[in-house]
Amino acid sequence: MPPKAKKEAPVERPILGRFSSHLKIGIVGLPNVGKSTLFNTLTKLSIPAENFPFCTIEPNEARVNIPDERFNWLCRLHNPKTEVSAFLEIHDIAGLVKGAHEGQGLGNSFLSHIRAVDGIFHVLRAFEDPDIIHVDDTVDPVRDLEIITEELRLKDLEFMARKIDDVEKSMKRSNDKQLKIELELCMRVKAFIEEGKDVRLGDWKTADIEILNTFQLLSAKPVVYLVNMNERDYQRKKNKFLPKIHAWVQEHGGEQILPFSAGLERNLADMPEDEAAKYCEENKVQSALPKIIKTGFAAINLIYFFTAGPDEVKCWQIRKLTKAPQAAGTIHTDFEKGFICAEVMKFEDLKEHGSETAVKAAGKYKQEGKTYVVQDGDIIFFKFNVSGGGKK
Ligand code: GDP
Repeated sequence: MPPKAKKEAPVERPILGRFSSHLKIGIVGLPNVGKSTLFNTLTKLSIPAENFPFCTIEPNEARVNIPDERFNWLCRLHNPKTEVSAFLEIHDIAGLVKGAHEGQGLGNSFLSHIRAVDGIFHVLRAFEDPDIIHVDDTVDPVRDLEIITEELRLKDLEFMARKIDDVEKSMKRSNDKQLKIELELCMRVKAFIEEGKDVRLGDWKTADIEILNTFQLLSAKPVVYLVNMNERDYQRKKNKFLPKIHAWVQEHGGEQILPFSAGLERNLADMPEDEAAKYCEENKVQSALPKIIKTGFAAINLIYFFTAGPDEVKCWQIRKLTKAPQAAGTIHTDFEKGFICAEVMKFEDLKEHGSETAVKAAGKYKQEGKTYVVQDGDIIFFKFNVSGGGKK
């Protein structure tokens, strides 16, 4: 009998994008679609700058807490001295217009700001208001989608052409095999973009992704579409542009579409909390911001694990697929260097059993080693040893 084929564990492909736990998302869209209104509303929810003592926060940046019931539950359980939730860093990237890749409307500097973020909130105008002009005269979100995505691709094409040039020059001076591999990939990527396709939608191999991740291409970044409509449309979940936007997005990658109303969000943010709650109840509406924030965080492949005790309940944000030692390293580099193991409890198990002791008694408190891939919502206690030992 022939030997049974070995069952191989599915290999998870690396993620397109920067490998970092400091990732950010940028708000992008044509002028007058509601970007600043959205950004200013988010700024009002921002965590005060003094909570980030080691980094400056620019006026076009907002850091907003990720709403999370699990975190609130852990805080109620431990009643800790400090509570640190996860946050999403959002950048306002103003004024992209048609022709931006050729420098129209300060285009190039805006495009370079998009290069610096890890994902895109693409804001679309689906509200009609004769008082607010549209740069292209009429309200037509699908046309706007085409304009923006094309600008991003054209910029990528320009980048690829330059890259190909550079690699070809280097090949004249060196026989390095890697250069040949890189050139071949660059050609494939260029052809892919020329077909009108965004790089993030390609079926790239692991080796391709490793090279692609050094390019920071604009069309490789994950996108969440935010459709800005008037309050009435948002409330009744109906808008005349929505079906067309939906069809377009399905055809171009099928990413998340979130309807919202910038006008409503601005009004709610201006009201005292109890008044806002009353308004929402009376008008049967809800702010879309919590969902927008959570979706943006997940879209750029961030997750977090918890450390929890009477001193502190804290969310530690890491990129999806991070292994236990590197996750430990976000707390302290010594934790990574001297990593012994991670003691892991699932949030759901803690919630079900009520205490760490009960989780242990149920056999659900696990010791995980160096290859453990940390999951969103894990509650972790790291054991580590650095010259002389230590435990946390
Ligand atoms: P940006 O250029 O994309 O940043 O757009 P802004 O946020 O500055 O909005 C442009 C104009 O549209 C402002 O006068 C806003 O008050 C208005 N605006 C934004 N969202 C809405 C909306 O949902 N409905 C209406 N009627 N006006 C809006």
